[in-house]
This record gives sequence, C-alpha cells and structure tokens, in this order.
Amino acid sequence: MAGWRENIRKVTPYVPGEQPKQAGQGRLIKLNTNENPYPPTPEVAECLKKMDTEAFRLYPNTDAAPIVEELAKRFGLPQECFFVGVGSDDVLAAAFQTFFSGTKPVLFPDITYSFYEVWAGLYRVPYRKLPLDGQFRIRAEDYIPVKREKGLKKDGNGGIVLANPNAPTGIFEPLSFVEQIVSQNPDSVVIVDEAYIDFVTMPKASAIFLTQKYENLLVVQTFSKSRSMAGMRIGYAVGQPELIAALNAVKFSWNSYTMNLPAQLLGAASLRAEEYFKETIAKVIATRERSRARLEELGFSCTDSQANFLFVTHPAAKAEDLLAELRKEDIIVRHFGADRIRNYLRITVGTDEEMERLVACLGEILRN
Ligand code: PMP
Repeated sequence: MAGWRENIRKVTPYVPGEQPKQAGQGRLIKLNTNENPYPPTPEVAECLKKMDTEAFRLYPNTDAAPIVEELAKRFGLPQECFFVGVGSDDVLAAAFQTFFSGTKPVLFPDITYSFYEVWAGLYRVPYRKLPLDGQFRIRAEDYIPVKREKGLKKDGNGGIVLANPNAPTGIFEPLSFVEQIVSQNPDSVVIVDEAYIDFVTMPKASAIFLTQKYENLLVVQTFSKSRSMAGMRIGYAVGQPELIAALNAVKFSWNSYTMNLPAQLLGAASLRAEEYFKETIAKVIATRERSRARLEELGFSCTDSQANFLFVTHPAAKAEDLLAELRKEDIIVRHFGADRIRNYLRITVGTDEEMERLVACLGEILRN
C-alpha cells in the first residue's frame, strides 16, 4: 500500500440527517433535522431582493459587523462578547479547537449531540462520556471536580460541553443547574450549546447573561432552528472578550472569511424582526404540545422536550420498524442507533397539518 494512505487522518465523521432532493415539494414530510416549518421573516426576503451583488467583488467583513452589531443590540452586550460562524457547528468546532487543548478529559453526556465526540476525535481531545440518569437527566454531581483529602489533589477535567435543552432528548435543565456547574469548574471552559433554547417555555432560560458573571462560560446559539435559517448557516457564541479573542485567534489561523456577506446581511435582517420571531416560536411550541398529547393517546411515551422536536418511544412497536413504515408514507423522522435510545424516534415539530398526518399514519401503522 502506498505510504500516503497511512498518512490520511482517520476520523469517524458525523452522519447528518437525510436531505432528500424532493424536500419541500409534493407529499414528503421532512421531520428529521429539526428545521423550522415556517419561512424566515419577510424582512429576510426583502433584504435578499435588495442585495447589491456588486458588493460580492470584495471579501466580506472579517468581523461580521452587520450581524454582530444587531446581536449586541438584541442582547444588550458589547460587540466584543460575540463570535459568529457558519452555523453553530462551525462555532462549536472552533471552540473545541480553542479551549480543549489540555490533557485532562473533556466531559459530556453519553446521550447528547453526537458531533461532540466527532470533534473530540478530529482534534485529538481526550474525553469522557458521562451517563445520563434513568430519566435522561444530566447528573450535576458528575461534573463537579472532586477535591481530595487534605486539599492536595484535585480531579479536574479539560472542559465541559452541555447541550441545553439536550439533544435528542429535548430535556431542559434550569439556569441554576448550569450556574452550579460553571461556578464549580473555574479551571475549565464550560460550553453550553443552546441550539434549541428559544423553544423553552420557562422564562429566562438562556445562560447568555451568566457569561457576564463567569469568565469560563461560553454560550452557543444558532439561526438554524428558531430563526428558520438553517440553509444560511449562521451560528454565534457569547462570552467574555478574552474567550472571544481566543476563538478569533484560532479562526484567523484557519480561515479569516468564514461568514459570507449575504449571511451577515440576512442574519442582521432576521434580528430586526423580533415580533415575527416570537410568533413563529409560539406556533411551534403550541404544535409541539398538541402533538405530544396526540402521540400519548396512541400509547407513546414522550420526554418533556422543550425543543422543536419530540423524543418518543412505544411499548408495542420497534422504533426502527416505525421509521421504515413512516418512510413508505413519505414521512422522514430520525432514529439513532446508540444503546439506550435505540427504541426512540426523534420527530421534528412541523406544521399542524404535517403533524396531523404523522399521527394518523402512526395510528394506522400501530393498528396493523
Ligand atoms: N447543536 C445541537 C444540539 C444541534 O442539534 C445542532 C443541529 N444539528 C447543532 C448544534 C448545529 O446546528 P447548526 O450548525 O445548524 O447551527
């Protein structure tokens, strides 16, 4: 075998949900990648129509000023507290490279966003997966470093990553839980991935404002779910300027122009439409709650998902069989093969009509 083959990086890549060619057309109901069923705010369409393509001649702003200015306004924080990237995957990958270059293991739950393990593998980050409890809750005590007798030795970690709400369970931990972990780990950067935070019904759910109190906290959010802009690839991190400067140093060692100009302008347009944003989220939450009740009537158990998806299992049916039967009806949902969740399906919340069809199909499948 030629030597160069041995030099190829060995990785186990993340497997994204299927993006079928006919999506958005005809009968297909796509409930597999947690996209928003509603379009982005009309301000985004307006902005796109008016876009001056002459500006594409030039490289985009490296500081993504149009979008960072709007983010700073929306959250009432200085611009130096924001880092933007090409989706939150890009931001999280940058954060893994930046903050997890130590020798102690980085901690995250055994059941969570499976990309964390992929980045740890890619960037050679040592890591440990800590089991969720029987109710799929994160056990806070597992993330608190143990102080040994006589204060001599401390079991530390190289960092912590938590998705809140967690994926694919949708389970949300309150801010006090996050604060406990962040405050007890002053020697580690704690990344809180809030991809689904806008669908949480509890007020003041986000840890963004805790970043002003804790220098070791980085909160990551995305435009892909609550802002209906998965196709634009926009994500951002919020943290104190020292963390953001460290992220930028790594980013500028890799690719200075990550976010293209249209994404910067369209993202900024979305941030100016707060009313529409709130309305869309309220619709998704209402449909989530209605759908959960309908699925429970069919005998499904559902986690208390606070995200834009439901995580469901049925005592009398194999999740994989349901997945295949739904596929025949042109309904795509997501199944993960990991041990404890093999008999679960993750179902994105679509429109009311889409969810009605899903429930009707599942009812039919279960009767046969
Ligand atoms: N974090 C979590 C928990 C997710 O489920 C996803 C979506 N797959 C992401 C981050 C990445 O989303 P995006 O790159 O579209 O912002």
